[in-house]
Parts: sequence; C-alpha cells; structure tokens
Amino acid sequence: MKILEERILREGKVLPGNVLKVGSFINHMIDPTLTDKMGEAFFERFKNEGVTKILTVEASGIAIAYAAARYFGCPMVFAKKTQTSNVNSNVYSAPVKSFTHGKTYNVMVSTDYITHEDTVLCVDDFLAVGNALIGLFSIVEQAGAKLAGAGIAIEKGFQGGGDKLRDKGYRIESLAIIDSMEDCKIVFRH
Ligand code: 5GP
Repeated sequence: MKILEERILREGKVLPGNVLKVGSFINHMIDPTLTDKMGEAFFERFKNEGVTKILTVEASGIAIAYAAARYFGCPMVFAKKTQTSNVNSNVYSAPVKSFTHGKTYNVMVSTDYITHEDTVLCVDDFLAVGNALIGLFSIVEQAGAKLAGAGIAIEKGFQGGGDKLRDKGYRIESLAIIDSMEDCKIVFRH
C-alpha cells in the first residue's frame, strides 16, 4: 500500500532490536484517514470470505481493526491482556510472548463474543515473529470458529513470522512488508 509505505519512509524510526517506531500515525497518535484506508484495503482483500468478526489484541491493533470492522459491517473484538471485571470467567486464552517487551502474557476473549458460527479475520498493527497472531489463531480455534486469515498493517518480513504462517497454509495479507531495516534503511518487498 503505497501511502503506508511512504508514511513509514517519512516518519518511521528504526530503533535498536529491530523495532520500527511509528508513533506518529499508528502507535501513539493515529491518522484517521490512513487508518480508514487500511480498513478498506483489508475489506478489499477479504470481502469474499464471509467475515463476521474482526479480532485484534489491545491496544495498538484496535484502531485498525475498528476501521476494518466498519467496512465489513461487523463487530470488532479485542483480546485483553489483563483479567478485568469486565471479562467473565468464561474465556478463551492463549499465552503470547511480547516482541517489544519480551514478557509473556495471556490474551483473553470472553466466550460470549466469538462462537462456532463466526468467521474471523485477525488484524494487527505489526507482524514480526508471529507470536501475537498465533495467540489470536488459537483463540479462534478454541471458539470453533472459522479463520479467514490475518490482515496486518506492517510486516517485518525479515523476521520470518509471516512466511512461516503462510507456509502452514494461513492467508496473511500485509499492507507493507519490510524486507530489511539494516543501517536504518527501510527496504520494502514488492
Ligand atoms: P510478533 O508477535 O509477530 O513477534 O510481534 C507482533 C506484535 O509485537 C504486534 O502486536 C506489535 O504490537 C508488536 N511489534 C512487533 N514488532 C514491532 C515493531 O517493530 N514496532 C512496533 N511498534 N510494534 C511491534
């Protein structure tokens, strides 16, 4: 997606540890126009899959997942990272090792919000080694729902998670795939 790639080149900052900082339009401040276009792009790619729910992880996936849900005309569910009183005890949960913090946390979704009747599209801001998506896919499986695949804003292709999941047969659609960030120079896959 050209406008996303241009924005990454203009405002993205490569941090130590192969982390790309995009705080000015995804992770801290949100650009509603760009976010809306990302939602539309996911709809274009998955519109024939009968998607009934969009699933993401709090917090940075929420805006993009919401934009997608608007186009699909379906609800968006975000997996929670901490147990709260808003989530009853009946939950699907999966451990996810955080790429940026190194800690492992449980992601949880109430059994009320995804069922075996759903077809789920998982959406996230980044795909690195794939742990977050594997956690979301596990939740979809626990619910007995059908998985349409995953829509990702920025995939760091050189970290391998996306291709590993594609090799397993999952449909992973990323709007920008970075093949290298060496010496702070961002190179996209086309
Ligand atoms: P994975 O689980 O695929 O290794 O990493 C994906 C998750 O880690 C995403 O949910 C995202 O929040 C976070 N993440 C991974 N790499 C980056 C990055 O380079 N920049 C930012 N801002 N988040 C990242």
